[in-house]
Amino acid sequence: MKTTKEIQAIDSAHYLHPFTDHKSLAEKGARIITKSEGIYIWDSHGEKILDAMSGLWCVNIGYGRQKLVDAAAKQMQELPYYNSFFQTTNVPAVKLAERIVKLAGDNYSHVFFSSSGSESNDTNIRMVRHYWATLGQPERKVIISRKNAYHGSTMAGASLGGMSYMHEQGGLPIPDIVHIEQPYHYGLAPTQDKDAFGIEAAGWLEQKILEVGPEKIAAFIGEPVQGAGGVIIPPKTYWPEIQRICDKYNILLICDEVICGFGRLGYWFGSQLLGCKPDLMTFAKGVTSGYIPLGGVVIGKKVAKVLIEQGGDFNHGYTYSGHPVACAVALANIDILEHEGLVDNVRNETGPYLAQRFAELTHHPLVGNAESCGLVAGLALMKDKAKHIAFDELLGVGMMCRNHCFSNGLIMRAVGDRMIIAPPLVITKAQIDDMMHLINKCLDATLDELQALGLMHA
Ligand SMILES: *Cc1c(COP(=O)(O)O)cnc(C)c1O
Repeated sequence: MKTTKEIQAIDSAHYLHPFTDHKSLAEKGARIITKSEGIYIWDSHGEKILDAMSGLWCVNIGYGRQKLVDAAAKQMQELPYYNSFFQTTNVPAVKLAERIVKLAGDNYSHVFFSSSGSESNDTNIRMVRHYWATLGQPERKVIISRKNAYHGSTMAGASLGGMSYMHEQGGLPIPDIVHIEQPYHYGLAPTQDKDAFGIEAAGWLEQKILEVGPEKIAAFIGEPVQGAGGVIIPPKTYWPEIQRICDKYNILLICDEVICGFGRLGYWFGSQLLGCKPDLMTFAKGVTSGYIPLGGVVIGKKVAKVLIEQGGDFNHGYTYSGHPVACAVALANIDILEHEGLVDNVRNETGPYLAQRFAELTHHPLVGNAESCGLVAGLALMKDKAKHIAFDELLGVGMMCRNHCFSNGLIMRAVGDRMIIAPPLVITKAQIDDMMHLINKCLDATLDELQALGLMHA
């Protein structure tokens, strides 16, 4: 076994990490995660860390679940791989498609499989344009998305996404994708009535439709609750109004459920909570709790019918579409979510408990607002919350707080000056208390540092 320093040296010599500034990583050395159990991970120094981000929003059933290991091993022995391209299929993919359609509800009939959220959103773009072309309206190409949205990192995924720092590299966005502002009440209009703001924010979609021309628009895409954009929880009026506008102009609605799906909000899909009926739903992450890559699109009956009855060949697919091992793991994951009642538990027990405990953070001098939905939560670090004054972005206060979390055994993510969490759905109320204790400790440490630097008054 090599030492931590040796592994770090090889890491920086040969492993190009995603979303990473390599020069600064090489100076510090990457943290090496070596094992995991439940809601905890351990690093190579043996330090135990509470993973309040479920990896990257995906380890819904927690770490160390033997059933998933067994399901993968068994499927690998029987049939490790076969494709579904040339009129063939495999049993785990068939079973999983049926199971996901049942969870999605009456509106849906089919599932298309990929290996990630990004690929699934690529599929969405091609599918909705093919849908409209099949219906004799090929000019319906434009997809409306939102600023700060995250829809993945491929050319299409990052184009749909609204991260300006991603658009700066690689010639993005690709043509015919436009963005509207996100429904961030606290950030954009904190004094406005929340429900009224929700209606207004949905109205930005209608404005954009009229500006572009309804006859050119294929679809609107949004995350039910925006995740990587900072856990932006929309007012309850927002999604029903978005649905009304999509219906009015006959525009397809795509919900990117990659984070919200599979129990995160206390429902199988986030749209079931937030009051809309998307034509297509993107999933990935929680479908296998991250144990193995799998993603896909749940397809509503309206779209499926056109594709199947009139669409002919859909010239699109991935080598690993319907991968039998990934699908077998997903089935075992859904078994656990069901048998342990985890989705109901988030809805009725741990979600409401987190909401209550997380809201208490607004008593902290640094915290402007703190809100959760199911088991995702976000808070805004503010310089002067009474006057609604944010910190200078260049100070990197969120990063400062994240570093305190790192050194105190807690994974919490910073998005600018918003601190966000999405703990595994297996977290107990007692563990939520432990997590809140750590969060408070890290906020205190951040406040101390800001005061020591003279950036905030005592
Ligand atoms: C993570 C994420 C994606 C991208 O998924 P990958 O598997 O990383 O390609 C897409 N949409 C949302 C909402 C996500 O959170």
